Amino acid sequence: MVQGKFLVLKKDEIGINVFKLLVHSPQIAKESLSGQFVNINIDGFLLRRPISISDIDIENETITIIFEIRGEGTEKLSHIKSDDYIDIIGPLGRGFKLITKESRAVVIGGGIGSPPLVSVSKFYGKNSFAILGFQNKSKVILEDVFKTYCKETIICTDDGSMGLKGFVTNGLNELLLKEKIDIIYTCGPLGMMKGIADIAKKNNIQCQVSMEQKMACGMGNCLVCACEAKRNNKKTYLHICKDGPVFDYKEVFFDE
Ligand SMILES: Cc1cc2nc3c(=O)[nH]c(=O)nc-3n(C[C@H](O)[C@H](O)[C@H](O)COP(=O)(O)OP(=O)(O)OC[C@H]3O[C@@H](n4cnc5c(N)ncnc54)[C@H](O)[C@@H]3O)c2cc1C
Repeated sequence: MVQGKFLVLKKDEIGINVFKLLVHSPQIAKESLSGQFVNINIDGFLLRRPISISDIDIENETITIIFEIRGEGTEKLSHIKSDDYIDIIGPLGRGFKLITKESRAVVIGGGIGSPPLVSVSKFYGKNSFAILGFQNKSKVILEDVFKTYCKETIICTDDGSMGLKGFVTNGLNELLLKEKIDIIYTCGPLGMMKGIADIAKKNNIQCQVSMEQKMACGMGNCLVCACEAKRNNKKTYLHICKDGPVFDYKEVFFDE
């Protein structure tokens, strides 16, 4: 883990209020695992903002982060330009557990939950399938990226303006009718991930979920992101920042 100011090599607006930053940081690129995050200092804000590492390029010593404007902090961050420096700590948290490259994986993203799944689909390559859900066509991001890596990319929109009409759970049920899947990775709204966890349980498929929770330090030193969970058959408290953000679906209480 390192804290420092790193050069933004490239900034792109890849969707409505969604920005992609390519950051030069050799150490973070070398240490990062899929699903980990960085904590970003934004001028004028006391608390850093957590953003997932979307892509890792060890050879070119870069990481990619993708964020949506959600409030004042991310709005300010959206003004950063290429050649500026960004103050980040990372990599933080526990990422997705990747099994063998030959395994057949499905990545399922809901909206801005899709970026951390990019490096997972890159790992499994053409043994992976992506199911991405958005409100409507105008909100779709990263379709081209997942199409490059995955065997198949299914877009779902709530209003049917693109791809399948309805939720990603419909897309998953359809995929499971024709493909044998070993593992599911998901990131998005809690209700969506609960639906996916239910399908994983019913079909006896491994499933890892990336949880989002308000956090302060991002390193397990404060209690802001502590939440009730199940581990080793016991109720316990886990920190989303340090013990997660990625958990086995069996550890999560989705209803609370
Ligand atoms: C592990 C993790 C990974 C994330 N990855 C991404 C990502 O890849 N792309 C992306 O767009 N967003 C991501 N988020 C959500 C992102 O951190 C929030 O949208 C952002 O912190 C909002 O800051 P703000 O100042 O714009 O909003 P405000 O609402 O003004 O923020 C106020 C405070 O609440 C906290 N806060 C508000 N919303 C959230 C939230 N949903 N999660 C955590 N803290 C919040 C902020 O840190 C800040 O302290 C991630 C969150 C977590 C926990």
